[in-house]
Amino acid sequence: MDFRLKPEEEELRRQVEDFVREEVIPLEPVFEGAPDIFEGSRWKSRAKLSRDPEVQRYIGIMEELRRKAEARALWHLDVPKRYGGREVSNVAMIAVTEELEKTSVPFELGNHVSNILYACKGEQVERFLLPCIRGEKTACFGLTEPGAGSDPSMMTTTATPDGEDFVIDGTKMFPTFGDVADFVQVFARLPGTKGREGVTCLLVDTGHPGYRVVRSIETIGGSEPCELVFDGCRVPKTQVLGAVGEGWKLNQAWLGARRFQVGIRCHGTALRVMRRVAELLRSEPRERERLAPALGYFYAELQALRSITYHGSWKADRGLDVRLEAASVKLFATELLHRTVDFALEAAGPAAYRKDHDVARAFRHARARRIVEGASEIQRHLIQRALFREGIACIELQ
Ligand SMILES: Cc1cc2nc3c(=O)[nH]c(=O)nc-3n(C[C@H](O)[C@H](O)[C@H](O)COP(=O)(O)OP(=O)(O)OC[C@H]3O[C@@H](n4cnc5c(N)ncnc54)[C@H](O)[C@@H]3O)c2cc1C
Repeated sequence: MDFRLKPEEEELRRQVEDFVREEVIPLEPVFEGAPDIFEGSRWKSRAKLSRDPEVQRYIGIMEELRRKAEARALWHLDVPKRYGGREVSNVAMIAVTEELEKTSVPFELGNHVSNILYACKGEQVERFLLPCIRGEKTACFGLTEPGAGSDPSMMTTTATPDGEDFVIDGTKMFPTFGDVADFVQVFARLPGTKGREGVTCLLVDTGHPGYRVVRSIETIGGSEPCELVFDGCRVPKTQVLGAVGEGWKLNQAWLGARRFQVGIRCHGTALRVMRRVAELLRSEPRERERLAPALGYFYAELQALRSITYHGSWKADRGLDVRLEAASVKLFATELLHRTVDFALEAAGPAAYRKDHDVARAFRHARARRIVEGASEIQRHLIQRALFREGIACIELQ
């Protein structure tokens, strides 16, 4: 196995490194007090409805950064070539994100496009996919239900066929930005089906009759998931994403593909927080001596996280089965980040308890990472299943 990037990937990584150093890092003092909504590429969902001049100021800064990135051809990196993107490999995207994570400014190179939207067909492409790629529309993801979180196969929301339409009925818990997104990718089951069978994904405009936002839930991490009700929500069958009854595969594809980005994000955040602690300890020799062994051990663990993240992405690029790697990276990355920021808060002292301090911000965001997109307990379950039932790991060891 060769972990080196291909020459064109290394060139891209270097360009991103330059962009981050020249354009993004100088903005760090400006972003110290930024509202939490400026996190990742999904800030557009929340920001677009805000009239707050402070929010508008940050939108202006983000838009200026986008223009500069576009001028350097650093936009739409992971978008397929047929939609005008550069379609870079998983490994290259990991290297890009690793560079972006060197700064605390929450900027991403591209608009947020849920990877399952590439299953759009016919008029769906013009109506849903392309506006997301261009940043004109945002989407939310409606999978979790009050009685179906860790195990979405328990979902009870139904999509009942009726002539040329499906009628959706049910409740979805926590779709992030369900109140401000332009449309929802909602998972519902055909009547009379159970488990993974009959699950169907539909694209529904958020203002559509029968779509109701019950509440928006303020969280410690800044994002605002919602409770949504679908009450006789009638949508044409042409709005099914992928095939009728094949939604389970889309759900799995969405979760699997994101894991390695979670790994490198957690790695970058933890490393930044550790650097911050190391800076603070420079002027405190006694504290430094006390905490150095722990810092060293965290650093070793972060190196291990980096390796398994690149390894998993490398396998994904070759079309190999990465279910075990994806679960391992999600589990190890989110648990390690949580331990790291907890340690950093203790080591950095009372100053880091300030709400807008980097370490405090990282602490608030880290907790949700252990829950969303499959909680740690579920990843442990997936790993043990792979080890003992499917034998994936045993085959690897031969
Ligand atoms: C900030 C935030 C944003 C979110 N955004 C979205 C979104 O955009 N779209 C969406 O669809 N959902 C979203 N979610 C929902 C999230 O995916 C679920 O919260 C998660 O899947 C867990 O489901 P649950 O909350 O129902 O917990 P439960 O499934 O009830 O689990 C509760 C606890 O029990 C554990 N547990 C469950 N089953 C087992 C088991 N068999 N063995 C051992 N332990 C178990 C879990 O790990 C967890 O710790 C979001 C959640 C949060 C907090």
